[in-house]
Amino acid sequence: EAEIPEDHPRYQSLLTRHRIEHGVDLGITSKQGLIAEGRGEAFDYLLGEETLPSADAAARAAAAHLLLADHPVVSVNGNVAALVPGEVVDLAAATGADIEVNLFNRTDERMQAIADHLREHGADDVKGLTADGRIPGLSHERAKVDADGIGDADVVVVPLEDGDRAEALGAMGKTEIVIDLNPMSRSAQVAAVPIVDNIIRAVPNVTRHAEELADATEEELREIVDSFDREAALEEAERAIRNGDLD
Ligand code: ATP
Ligand code: MG
Repeated sequence: EAEIPEDHPRYQSLLTRHRIEHGVDLGITSKQGLIAEGRGEAFDYLLGEETLPSADAAARAAAAHLLLADHPVVSVNGNVAALVPGEVVDLAAATGADIEVNLFNRTDERMQAIADHLREHGADDVKGLTADGRIPGLSHERAKVDADGIGDADVVVVPLEDGDRAEALGAMGKTEIVIDLNPMSRSAQVAAVPIVDNIIRAVPNVTRHAEELADATEEELREIVDSFDREAALEEAERAIRNGDLD
């Protein structure tokens, strides 16, 4: 990792940029991913690069959903693998979730490179390479999933997911947890739990909540899930972006 001074006012965005660049060098992040990163950075800038209280509430609701799930799965694309590989492994461990590589621009080389990268960061089983399942309503390449992974999941974490696929997964009856800095993005709009936060902060935050809730009763977890208000969370994020007082 290059030397980025921690007291630099744009420390997080510089670090994020550096990791994405490295991801492209490793062949795990696509050029499209660079563009997505740019869009995310702009929103994070407007949020003051901080986790909103509503995003923290969403992270806690996400943790409760994952702990209640029969089969939770965390979906990983090229940006997620570049930005938070070890953090995704920790989240999966804390919640008993499977990890599945799922790419919008799917190539065998990138699928393999991402699976290898995740294994280097401690993942023991990485799904997504079998691709024997399909998401109904999407074109062939976009629809591919593992039948015993996302295909079978009841709760899925889909960070930085494309709007179409987020919608199609929701239509399959899956509970979707979306991590996306843009509260107006269709993916965030269709999620049961939209976490409007940088994935760099959001994934470790969901893990922290899951660890804290490890001994909670089913009733306590249900209460957290039921009291989360997705509309209010999206509204608070949009308000913060539009009226944020930046220094
Ligand atoms: P749609 O409305 O169909 O969902 P989109 O605007 O989401 O379209 P993309 O540019 O493909 O289209 O999506 C990238 C999304 O990922 C953006 O919403 C962006 O804010 C988000 N994003 C990018 N980097 C991060 C990050 N580090 N953390 C969280 N979200 C991010
Ligand atoms: Mg989107």
